[in-house]
Amino acid sequence: MKYVAKKPEDGINVSDTHPLVEAGTLVVGLSLIFLAIVVVLVFLVEIALYLVPVEKEVALFEDWLPEDLVTVAPNDERLGRTQLLVDRLATHWGDSPYSFRVEINDSSVANAMALPGGLIIVTTGLLDEVESENELAFVLGHELGHFRNRDHLRSLGRGIVLSLVIAVTTGRDVSNIGLNIADLALRGFSRRQEAAADEFGLELVYTNYGHVDEAWRLFERWDERDGESLGVASYLSTHPQADDRIENLERLAAEQGWPTAGRVTPLRW
Ligand SMILES: [Zn+2]
Repeated sequence: MKYVAKKPEDGINVSDTHPLVEAGTLVVGLSLIFLAIVVVLVFLVEIALYLVPVEKEVALFEDWLPEDLVTVAPNDERLGRTQLLVDRLATHWGDSPYSFRVEINDSSVANAMALPGGLIIVTTGLLDEVESENELAFVLGHELGHFRNRDHLRSLGRGIVLSLVIAVTTGRDVSNIGLNIADLALRGFSRRQEAAADEFGLELVYTNYGHVDEAWRLFERWDERDGESLGVASYLSTHPQADDRIENLERLAAEQGWPTAGRVTPLRW
């Protein structure tokens, strides 16, 4: 018997699916893979950064100042006072590995941020808003809390990876990345990180003054004003809702038995 090879049916290699649908699936699939790689990368960089010893971090970022981000106001008379207050609060953080450096950013938008190496940036907008030393002390203590939990490194890790992704996908010059890192470092932390920083900050305020009176008075004012002013909106965009925070701080003070009434220290400027 002679074997006759059967011809394959026509169109065997042609799928029933519309080519556009297939192309779409491919694009979506590749995007998902790309996204997964980014997420894993962020995760790995975050872990790697946590493993960087604090001493290394301090040495690396000792003189670092994101000049593309902040307009330093070295002649602001409030700089020395704010630095002294940070130093005083930091003495209550017994084994702090940082020597904190305060800079004032000449911006009407109220904000405060913790940056690698122990750099604390407060804006003139924030200094204009605070009405007592106790109010300022809590905002600064909160930033010290971010250092203690090394939250500032986490956002830096996210910033590095996302900047690289932006550079790779858009083909932009990598030298511009500095700005993205700093910019992303300013984005908010998680609720849990914020709450932990608040707890540490309030403890510093209590240890320093023996009470927590006016520690969150600033947020009460902002809450009353309902964040209508632009300056307030910025701080609130990177921090939890003022009313949530007030509630948590009140509860914490009650739990710890920290007096909510005491002698309030006026600002010395
Ligand atoms: Zn914070």
